[in-house]
Amino acid sequence: MGDIDSLVSGFGRFKEKYFNGADRLYDSLRTGQKPKVLVIACSDSRVDPAILFDSVPGELFVVRNVANLVPPHLDDGGTHGVSAALEFAACNLEVKHIVVLGHSRCGGIQALLGGATGKYITQWMKIAAEAARDIPRNRTDEQSGSTARICEQSSILLSLRNLLTFPCVRERVDDARLTIHGWYFDINSGELLGYDPLVKEFKALKPSL
Ligand SMILES: [Zn+2]
Repeated sequence: MGDIDSLVSGFGRFKEKYFNGADRLYDSLRTGQKPKVLVIACSDSRVDPAILFDSVPGELFVVRNVANLVPPHLDDGGTHGVSAALEFAACNLEVKHIVVLGHSRCGGIQALLGGATGKYITQWMKIAAEAARDIPRNRTDEQSGSTARICEQSSILLSLRNLLTFPCVRERVDDARLTIHGWYFDINSGELLGYDPLVKEFKALKPSL
């Protein structure tokens, strides 16, 4: 089966499950959405939030871009896709949580650290330049995995700080209507880590019982 044919047959299975299945999920979703969580994830094909979190349609509002970056709030009259999605999720949908989801072996972060790149990626990744500021450029192969991990995780924290530059996010975080989270999916180990601001490090997340 061709690469495109497999998408069409996949859609058939999706439709059978969510339109014709026992719970007929789209009967209620047809009239609107009420997701409680906004996920900002990387475009990488290995880190689809809907699949990682085993979620169903209507559960997650998702923004994906190279290296799951949140640019700082910029009121310059320009067209800002991430900012528009953020505003819609926070103000219109009133999501309760925002998760910035980073991951290991991120190509965007590799580009930031001097790997293969292109002009648009180079420009885009400048948003995360601060996260790479203290990373040595002449790394051994042995060091490169751990320095990439440091940069991947610090860029998540930078995005969390940038989230708070948006007034619509800041005011909702301040009055506890909204909580922001920094998560990291380790492709090597299959672990999901979450940033713990109390100890200032990423720790394995476990489901609460
Ligand atoms: Zn990535």
